[in-house]
Amino acid sequence: MKTAVDGIVIWEVKTGEADRVITLLTAQGLVTAYARGSLKPGGRLTGTTAMLSYSNFELASGKNMYTVTDATSQNRFLKIYAQADKYSLAVYFCELMKYLAPTEEDSSRFLSLLLNSLYLLDGDLKPAWQIKAVFELAVMTLAGYMPDVDGCSRCGSPESSGGVFFDPLEASWTCSECLDKEGRAANYLFSVIAAVRYVVHSDTRRAFSFSLTGDAVKQFGRLSEEYVLAHLERKPRTLEFYNIIQ
Ligand SMILES: [Zn+2]
Repeated sequence: MKTAVDGIVIWEVKTGEADRVITLLTAQGLVTAYARGSLKPGGRLTGTTAMLSYSNFELASGKNMYTVTDATSQNRFLKIYAQADKYSLAVYFCELMKYLAPTEEDSSRFLSLLLNSLYLLDGDLKPAWQIKAVFELAVMTLAGYMPDVDGCSRCGSPESSGGVFFDPLEASWTCSECLDKEGRAANYLFSVIAAVRYVVHSDTRRAFSFSLTGDAVKQFGRLSEEYVLAHLERKPRTLEFYNIIQ
């Protein structure tokens, strides 16, 4: 049986002479497919089945997995390909999708988050620190790991007059007044928590529309990365690589 689906290649494994097994993120979940001859230079499927290629795929169902019979490219994010730092960040996004997006279930919001993030990265429309941190928080939220940032974990206050303490494992924060009472130190500016709150309550298009300055920029990046590592069962290898080439 044949089926056609729009999807983006988020993983590839070389196999055989010049074939690859690719993982697609589609609006209906992750799909694995065999792309015969797709590593041959100039082959019919070579470009459309490469990493980050967003295409309309024609798939034939087989014994163990689908086979790609044809593919029509919609976007290849070629500017990302040309820059090692951007490419390694994009591949990190793909690895998170591989672990967190569902199979055979509605994953249209995962797909929209990835496509938006790559579009912004490809066109230099937002700084990389922001795209990375928003992606991390948004993908964790979609996967069911939304942090509880609406109010202080002790008193429930939505605001804080000073620095706060955020605990990535507990996924909650404590306001400066409660920290004072308990004699504890802050580890984040309150503006960072306000930005996290904005991201986790926004749809995937609007989540990138905010600004932070000064120390809050670094802190926001630290919080989002620590949050991923605290809840993901394994450390993404692509993140280590991205941080090395930074
Ligand atoms: Zn409090």
